[in-house]
Amino acid sequence: MTTKMTGAEIRQSFLDYFKERGHTVVASSSLVPGGDQTLLFTNAGMVQFKDVFLGIDKRDYTRAVDSQKCMRVAGKHNDLDDVGRDDTHHTFFEMLGNWSFGDYYKKEAIEWAWELLTDVWGLDRSRLYATVFKDDKGDIPTDDEAAEVWKAQKGMDSSHILYFGRKENFWEMADTGPCGPCSEIHMDRGENYCDRKHVPGHVCRVNGDCARFLEVWNLVFIQYNRVSADRFEPLPAKHVDTGMGFDRIVSIIQDVNSNYRTDLFIPMMDKLRELSGKTSEEMDENFTPYRVVADHTRAATFLIADGVVPGNVGRNYVCRMIIRRAARFATTIGLNEPFMAQIANVVIDQYGKAYPELVKNRKSILDNLTREEKRFQRTVESGMAHLGDLLDELTKSGGKSLNGAKAFELYATYGLPLEITRDVAREVNLDVDEIGFKASMEEHKLQSGAGKAFGTMGGDQVEVYRNAFKKLVESKQLTPSGVQYDPYSRLELDSTVIGLFSEGEELEEAAQGTDVEVIVPQTGFYIESGGQVSDTGTITARNGSWEIQVNDVQRPAAGIIIHIGSVTRGNARLNDQVKLRVDRERRMDIMRNHTATHLLHAQLHKVLGEHARQSGSLVAPDRLRFDFTHPDAITQEQLDAIESGVNQEILASHPLAIMEKSLQTAMAEGAMALFGEKYGEKVRTVTIDQEHPISYELCGGTHVENTGDIGTFIILNEGSAAAGIRRIEAVTGRGAYEVIRSRNRVLRRAARLTNSSIEEIVAKISSIQDEVESLRVQLARSRQEWVKAEFEEKLKDVTLVSGIPVLSVVLKGADIDSMRQMTDIFRQKHSSGVVAIGSVVNDKPMLIVAVTEDLVKRGLNAGEFVRQAAAIVGGSGGGRPVLAQAGGKDPAKLPEAMASIIELIRQKLN
Ligand SMILES: [Zn+2]
Ligand SMILES: [Zn+2]
Repeated sequence: MTTKMTGAEIRQSFLDYFKERGHTVVASSSLVPGGDQTLLFTNAGMVQFKDVFLGIDKRDYTRAVDSQKCMRVAGKHNDLDDVGRDDTHHTFFEMLGNWSFGDYYKKEAIEWAWELLTDVWGLDRSRLYATVFKDDKGDIPTDDEAAEVWKAQKGMDSSHILYFGRKENFWEMADTGPCGPCSEIHMDRGENYCDRKHVPGHVCRVNGDCARFLEVWNLVFIQYNRVSADRFEPLPAKHVDTGMGFDRIVSIIQDVNSNYRTDLFIPMMDKLRELSGKTSEEMDENFTPYRVVADHTRAATFLIADGVVPGNVGRNYVCRMIIRRAARFATTIGLNEPFMAQIANVVIDQYGKAYPELVKNRKSILDNLTREEKRFQRTVESGMAHLGDLLDELTKSGGKSLNGAKAFELYATYGLPLEITRDVAREVNLDVDEIGFKASMEEHKLQSGAGKAFGTMGGDQVEVYRNAFKKLVESKQLTPSGVQYDPYSRLELDSTVIGLFSEGEELEEAAQGTDVEVIVPQTGFYIESGGQVSDTGTITARNGSWEIQVNDVQRPAAGIIIHIGSVTRGNARLNDQVKLRVDRERRMDIMRNHTATHLLHAQLHKVLGEHARQSGSLVAPDRLRFDFTHPDAITQEQLDAIESGVNQEILASHPLAIMEKSLQTAMAEGAMALFGEKYGEKVRTVTIDQEHPISYELCGGTHVENTGDIGTFIILNEGSAAAGIRRIEAVTGRGAYEVIRSRNRVLRRAARLTNSSIEEIVAKISSIQDEVESLRVQLARSRQEWVKAEFEEKLKDVTLVSGIPVLSVVLKGADIDSMRQMTDIFRQKHSSGVVAIGSVVNDKPMLIVAVTEDLVKRGLNAGEFVRQAAAIVGGSGGGRPVLAQAGGKDPAKLPEAMASIIELIRQKLN
């Protein structure tokens, strides 16, 4: 056995083996499934070929081999609970597969699988088992064909060929559609691997419940189309779909008892020990945290490379959750500071050759990991303490399950994902009410937006169009490839109405005012995709008798395109000759915005860096909106550089080159592909300036011929769209002109109002501001002078109370500063005495009292006077014995309050 093969060599030898047998090596598709919104993550090699099996998509090869990135953390295939607790489950994993699309079948598939496992990889033939389908319900024939091929293999023990029913050995994509028997290869790893020896009556067997027999490879033979629960029709073309878990085969070939002890994980484990300072023995005793941290860090590394950064919703939540879960487990082995970037570096070095996107996005991966760890660190301690309290309470009250709303609160307040709360609860034999958690999450709208993008059309309606398609093909009104779609070359074309519907019902005729859906054999109307909105326009009878205003275009089922609108004139009729016209002005606006979007994307890379990647886009006629990943706020200088950069490329009048290429060629040439976008084998590439490319993207949208056609590009706003995501909104062409025109109008008006010109307006406004400021100062000074004059006048009213000069006056409009100044003036005039001044400012009474030092010694106290007077005006106040002030609420009582002060002085002195 070639035990020395490394994981990387095993992967390569798999690809090479099938390449030598005529297979095209296909790159793994993104973890974000293209075009399939029902799926959170790519979870099998099959995902990127699904449409080929369904007959919707075609490739120019019939044999393919790949190593597909997969993620299983949610939905039907949710392995998260097992990750870390055993040696075989992962969140992220690679799936090796070879594929035949109507090419070779069972004989070759089995022969090659056997040869690769035994001759090439040296597995012991006597330990291998094959399973074959035999229907437990008796409806579908036994797969004798596969059994015969197995018997003919060199060294195959015929007693090792076992039959299993539908649960184990029949594969279906859905309730109906392509399906077929499968044949699995299992490996007997020997008695030592049995982990259930202690269970009475346990027997080790294939598809049993112990770890001795491992499923190695599943070969699926797609030969039927299931039309109903018990009806299967043979498929005209038969396919092969195989899948082999990469980590598992590496563990078998390297003969280790855990996926985590293969060379795929050893460097990560070494690094973890180095960082935590633990020994190998310590690690072996407490292996779980190492497994979780290694698995989750690897998964997060791959996710971020595919554009999935930590966040609160959907895929982004998963990324956040696994990082935090890993961080929590890491604390149990003493890793409390951000460390994941160092593990991620090991992952990137290990996998970068097979998955270059890891190397390309290294900085973004490391930054995102560290940032998320820090975010979690800030709240985790208080979160864990709070959770501890909740669990204690629960135990004391005899409860078993933590309230879902409380679990949600832990997430919303302390950032503890449900999965971590559940981990901790389970460690003390408690559980969490997950349904309650999800309900609370819904309530808090954290998941708003998820599910919005799912089709608007009901299932019945899709069925109507499927049937319509079938009939139109039968009557030869449509070719089997369906409605011809070409939004690129012509905006007007002649055609015939071959389908007329209203609310899913087929019509012969539709009167004015009816909402309709129209099918024609060919169309130039663009269907919303890649952020670019659908075209609008008209469908008019060639004889001029009727017209339909088209407001939307959709593809409800394979082969069918419907124009949605309403009859605005006459009676629309089936089979009438028509003219289709796309709204040209609107479309030109859209094309300007789309090409400008590509220029903007390129400019963002230039100004901000390669990490600024598209994470959402809207190309509408009136504006473009572009979301991209960037951790920080964007400065005005950067924004100016971006805007002016785009305008320079517009003025340079670069021609656009649009070409069809194979996906492989385009990717090899460095074309920018978007995550979550679905690409067929043939892709459309849009290059701005073929000779000196400024931008090179895969794009199905419509574009201007020359960047000069865009006119002008103006950024309207920039801001945050979500955590780590920025958003720019901009206008071009007519929209930009409108912005300029309306802003000019505002400027002209401002110039008129300030008696200046547009050029002088800033200087003028700033001089007006100076003038206002100096007037304000002057006003304050005059008021003070006026108050002073009035006070000096009132100084004559000083009365003697028991021989002491006392003045109590009201100075309307005096502020507290000038009131204080007046008390000084009083004391300059009278070396011994008491002054009380009241005022009303903004309808609020204020008062101040000053007492000279000598009188303080005789028991007079300004604070006491002020308190008593303040009580009368409904307020309060205080201060020192020599000077105190107060405010109140009732200005009408001010004279009474002032009089009360004199009365109090009199009482004090007597
Ligand atoms: Zn066993
Ligand atoms: Zn585009």
